[in-house]
Parts: sequence; C-alpha cells; structure tokens
Amino acid sequence: MGTFVAMGNIIRLLPESVANQIAAGEVVQRPASAVKELLENAVDAGATEIKLIIKDAGKTLIQVIDNGCGMSEQDVRMCFERHATSKIKNANDLLAIRTLGFRGEALASIASISQVELKSKRVEDEVGTAVTVNGSEFISQSPVNSSDGTTVTAKNLFFNVPARRNFLKSNTLELKYVMEEFNRVALVHPNISFQLYNQDKILHQLSSSNLKQRLVALLGNTYNNRLIPIHQETQVVNISGYIGKPEYAKKKRGEQYFFANGRFIKNPYLNHAVENAFRDLIPKEAFPPYFIYLKVDPQTIDVNIHPTKTEVNFQDAKSLYAILHSTIKQSIGHYNLAPVLDFETERSLEVPPLPKDHPLTPPSITIDLEYNPFEKKRKSQMEINYPTSRRDSQTLDLPGADISAPNVIQIERSYLVSHIKNGIVVIDQQLAHERILYEEFLKSGENKDNGAQKLLLPQTVQVTPDDAEVIRNIIPVMEHSGFEVSDFGHNSFVVHAAPPGIESTTIQSVIESILEAYKAETDEFNQHGERELAKTMALRMAIKHGQSLKPEEAEAVIQQLMTCAAPDISPEGKPTMILLSYKELANEFKRTT
Ligand code: ADP
Ligand code: MG
Repeated sequence: MGTFVAMGNIIRLLPESVANQIAAGEVVQRPASAVKELLENAVDAGATEIKLIIKDAGKTLIQVIDNGCGMSEQDVRMCFERHATSKIKNANDLLAIRTLGFRGEALASIASISQVELKSKRVEDEVGTAVTVNGSEFISQSPVNSSDGTTVTAKNLFFNVPARRNFLKSNTLELKYVMEEFNRVALVHPNISFQLYNQDKILHQLSSSNLKQRLVALLGNTYNNRLIPIHQETQVVNISGYIGKPEYAKKKRGEQYFFANGRFIKNPYLNHAVENAFRDLIPKEAFPPYFIYLKVDPQTIDVNIHPTKTEVNFQDAKSLYAILHSTIKQSIGHYNLAPVLDFETERSLEVPPLPKDHPLTPPSITIDLEYNPFEKKRKSQMEINYPTSRRDSQTLDLPGADISAPNVIQIERSYLVSHIKNGIVVIDQQLAHERILYEEFLKSGENKDNGAQKLLLPQTVQVTPDDAEVIRNIIPVMEHSGFEVSDFGHNSFVVHAAPPGIESTTIQSVIESILEAYKAETDEFNQHGERELAKTMALRMAIKHGQSLKPEEAEAVIQQLMTCAAPDISPEGKPTMILLSYKELANEFKRTT
C-alpha cells in the first residue's frame, strides 16, 4: 500500500515559514491584496497622510508610507509574527472591532512571500527602527533616522512561490485591482490625504476633504452635478452617502460601493434594494452608480469572516433592505428627478392648478366599436397570422409574405426589411433572435428529454469562491434547462452537456453571463429560474447588431420569428418589429389609394 504503513510517528509541526506561506495564500492573492492590508494598517495607525508607491502594478514594489502612530523597537520585530496584533486582546473584543485589521496575519503573510523592509518611529522615540525580512527569514534590524510613522516596503511579491507569481495577470489588470482597493480605502477616509504613484507617475493626489469632494477627486469632475445625497437615521441603521442621478446610470456595473462600519462590502441583497428603487427610472440594462455608507451596531454585523472576503451578514437584513429602498426612493423623489410613483406622495401637488375662470370642457373619448376584449390576436390595420408551431413554417401563412422568394434585405447590419402582402415589416435582427432563442431554450426546458447535448470535450469552468456558491445554488435550474454540471471542488465545475446551440467554446462566457444575471436579479432568479436562465442565454447567444447576415440566414430569422408564440416583443419587452402598411405609406406621401 502507500507510504503510510509502519513508519511510526509521522505527524510533525510545519516550520513557521511554511505555515506563513500557507496562510499567505489566503491573505495575499495578488498585489492588490497586499496593498489593501498595508493601507488598512496605515489607517488603523491613525495616519492623516498615506502615500502608496507601486512598480509594475505592485509585482516588483509596493511601498506604503504613513505618518501614523509608529511602532516601538520591539513591536517592529514582533509585528511579523503570525497572530501578532495590537488590536484585540481577547475574544470579547471581537464583538466590537473598531479597526480594520484584527487577525495579526497580514504582515506575517506578506513577509513570507516577499522581501520586506519596515521602518517605523513613534513621536516619543529619538530614533526609529528598521527591520528586513526575506521570505519570513529575519535578516537584520538597526536603528535609523526617520520621520514619525511607518514605511513598509514589500519587493518582488511571490519571489519564492513561482506558481503564484505565474498566476498573476497582466500589469494592466493587476493595476486595475490595486486602484480598486485604493479607491475603497480612499472613499471611506476623505479626511486622510492620499497619494498613489505607479512607475514614478502620480495617479492620484487626494487632499483631505469632505466626501463629495473626495468622490469628485477620484471619479472626475463630471460627478460634480451627477450625485444626489442620501441620509437616513433609524434604530437599525444610519445611512449616508450619494447615489447617481438616474440619467447618469451606466451601461456597466462598476461604480457601486457599499461600506458598512467603514469597510467596503459586497451584498447582492442590498444592491437589489438600490437597483429596485431605480426601477422604471432607468433602462433595464443600466446600472446606477452609488456610494452608500451604512453604520450598524457592530454586534449586528458578522465581521468574523474570511480575511479577503467582502461579503458580510447583517442580523436584520430585511429591515435594512426596506429602509435602504425607501431612503433611496425618497432621495430621488426629493430631488424631483423622476416621476414619483409612490402612492404616498401627494398627487395633488403634481397637478398645476387651473387658471380661475378656465372653461371646463368634457374630455373627448374615441371609441373603437370593433374592439373585442376576448379576441386574443392583436388587431391592427395589417393582420399577420402567426403560425402556431414550427411545423407550420413550411406553409407560412404570413398573408402575402412571399417568404420563399428572396425578398429580404438587411440594412445597417441591424435590420431586416421584408415586404408582406399589404405593407412592409422592419425587424430588429438582434431583438428578434433573442425572442427566437428565448422560446427555444424555454421549450427545451419543458421537454422531459430537455435536449441536453453532450459536449465532445467536457468543459472545466473555474470561478471565484463566491461565484461557486451561486453555481451550486442554481445547478438544479441549469440541469432542468439542459445543462449537465458537476461540482469538481476547488471552485471548478465540469460541464458535460449544454442546451442545443451552446458550444464548448462559449460555455465559459455563457456561465459568466448567467452569474452576472443571477447577481443582478437574484430574486427573479430564485422565483423564475428557468425563465431567467432562458432569457440570459438568449441575450448572450443572439445575433448582434453589426453582424452581417447572408440572405438565407436573414430569411431563417424571419421564418423562425413568425413561428414564435409572441413574435412581436423581445424577452425584455422591447418591440422586435415595426409594421408599415401601404395605406400608411400612402398617407405619409399624401396620396390616395
Ligand atoms: P492586524 O492589522 O490584523 O493587527 P497586521 O499583521 O496587519 O495585523 O499587523 C500587526 C500589527 O503590527 C498591528 O496590530 C499593529 O500593531 C502593527 N502595525 C502594522 N502596520 C502598522 C503601521 N503602519 N503603523 C503602526 N503599527 C502597525
Ligand atoms: Mg492589518
């Protein structure tokens, strides 16, 4: 059998340096995580000025210079020990943490995977102390002349863990992560001045200011008149910060920040509360920027979490949701930026009073005598008989639409124009295809044999731990819709089969779209998983604007659209086509027919 037979006692303690390296794997995944820890230490030290200097996006150099409280000669040495912290003394302190750090793991971890020099001096000391540590190994300690405060310099991250070093992304991407961490700290402490240098170039110079000024300094002057302040004080939570005006909602998620008790957090549930408050005011695919600061009793928030995790749990999440939602609606309403849909608002105020002797005329009503509420088919000047099933498509009964003849043109690589018996129809190729795929995916989900197609090569999908949690939640829905997914551990999943039309090469991006949609519409997903999944996949896979189609492809889109149950609207409720009858055309040209 194996090596474990008859070897006597085999368990021993790991050398400290190895233990630190293992712990470092959790604390320091990339330069940005080291930046976060060092900035937080500077904040905890009460610094009023913090300078961050990086080279090669932090891969070769991360230096944080602060003017905080500094450390004693002994503490400078001690701070590199694992579980060495000045911030808590006993388990009770865990319930009321007021600092960002408290685990005493960061410096030990950073020092185990880089070459660190730390210089520090307290106000009361004559001279400071410098210590050098190289991959957990103590190198030297000496007195130095230095100003009050602490400078930590970490060089050559992962120099002794090549596997991790190779795992790092491009400088562009790593720099983006670093700047994101920088933003998160700078946005919580507008009173602290910050500087950020990369390759000796200054990227940010933020002087001590109020929050609005800090936001504008970080995000640009355009934000000056794009923000609405929010404010609410209740027993459960105090809320402050800013939200973007609805008209400045972004195409991409991004500038959305929650902070709880001075810590950046992610919380899809609260995000939903915010986005829900914006519903009907912004397009569906747009995201409102927000910078929201929550203050809750430390005892009602779970901070005893993984060091790099930003998810937190609130004891009273439901109340929090409701308070946040109404605070935001109120703020938007208060600024009078949008139709206020709440019934609580005094409608009478919104109707301008009539001039005193304004003549009153009864409203005129036009009655459609032919209107029959029980008639399902929508009646318009031009009738289209949509066939009810795919089988009908050969004998498509689109009145006069002589689909077999080549009558389709594509214009602007976006629209398909076709003539039909008594007019023309303009079809948006993308929206139409979304509708077609949506119904196809829904249908394959309804079938017992859900049309799952085995992939020739099973695809492995690697995601973040948080996303892995989401996938585990929605595997049943995915399987119902034609996926075959198995959890492979370590945040990876193997996809063995997928709904028809989804190929191996697109699996990863389809899964990413699903994750994004799930996070944006968690409630919808939980209630109508199959529908949301079908919608997400349809939107992801559909032919896009700008894609040129061969005549036969264009024709296929039209044919398939006409066999859909609801051909005239996209899964998101947009019209897929515009009909123009010859009669209307003649009217436009002021001719009689
Ligand atoms: P934690 O922040 O969780 O306590 P760290 O490993 O980040 O653990 O730091 C260990 C200790 O070193 C801190 O508790 C603090 O006493 C000290 N320390 C670290 N950085 C600084 C700094 N910039 N200024 C003053 N003290 C610091
Ligand atoms: Mg710390």
